[in-house]
Amino acid sequence: MAVSINELCVNCFACEPVCPSKAIFESKPHFKVNPNKCTECEGDYPVFQCASICPIEGAILNSLGEAINPPGSLTGIPPERMAEAMAELQSH
Ligand code: SF4
Ligand code: SF4
Repeated sequence: MAVSINELCVNCFACEPVCPSKAIFESKPHFKVNPNKCTECEGDYPVFQCASICPIEGAILNSLGEAINPPGSLTGIPPERMAEAMAELQSH
């Protein structure tokens, strides 16, 4: 079981030092997780340390491929409200 980092990652370096398993590494075009090393923090922390510090919604996925920080979870902006705001911006 391992988490993964996708293309939404902005290479901020925040997650790499907090991983208790040293599973996160700098790569191109974005940081990655070594699935053989990631323990999902089991035995070390009750929550995924990488996802708890990552500032980007949707950048870290659980082993089912689901965003650990889904849209709206960090900004507090409901996804439908964000979609309306973006549409409003683009109409000008
Ligand atoms: S879930 Fe835990 S062990 Fe896995 S990459 Fe993130 S911080 Fe490291
Ligand atoms: S904390 Fe998130 S955005 Fe920053 S390097 Fe890690 S996965 Fe990428």
